[in-house]
Amino acid sequence: MALRSDWSQRMCSMARGLDILGDPWSMLVLREVFFGNRRFDAIKSRLEVADSVLTRRLSGLVESGLLSKEAYDDGGRIRQEYVLTAKGEDALPVLNAVVIWAEKHLPAPSDQAHMYVIHSGCGQRTSSADTCTRCGEPLTAANTSWHSLTRTTDPVELATAMPSPAAPSQSTPARNGTAA
Ligand SMILES: [Zn+2]
Repeated sequence: MALRSDWSQRMCSMARGLDILGDPWSMLVLREVFFGNRRFDAIKSRLEVADSVLTRRLSGLVESGLLSKEAYDDGGRIRQEYVLTAKGEDALPVLNAVVIWAEKHLPAPSDQAHMYVIHSGCGQRTSSADTCTRCGEPLTAANTSWHSLTRTTDPVELATAMPSPAAPSQSTPARNGTAA
């Protein structure tokens, strides 16, 4: 991803993870896909980003196996949209943690500039990235909503990984090994 040297072979797993998840544009692309924006134009208009920057991040996330490209029929033209893989969906606690940390420690430039992580099951905000701090249930993309006050009046249910036809067992990601 060209901003720096390749860290994918570093000895430390944090460095290898940051090789992918440490890029702000890539994280914002993942944010958009979790919000349900699968298509280039929709992601581009949300991020207000140059085509070349977005193209590079989408390609990187596909190469890294966090997103996959799916064809769709756009009024007779076949185009591509981007969906989460199980590997991409597993990045959700990382994104949640960034939001929760920023809400706790960084000043917001306006009353609307907030985003909350919500457990859809009990409808409450959580202050933990992978477990609902109200009811204790583990968070998955399927039971988590994000509420960005600048985007919508109500929380938005997150997108989940597409079931993989080649590996059906991956369509229901196990909650094993949530990060420390
Ligand atoms: Zn809950």
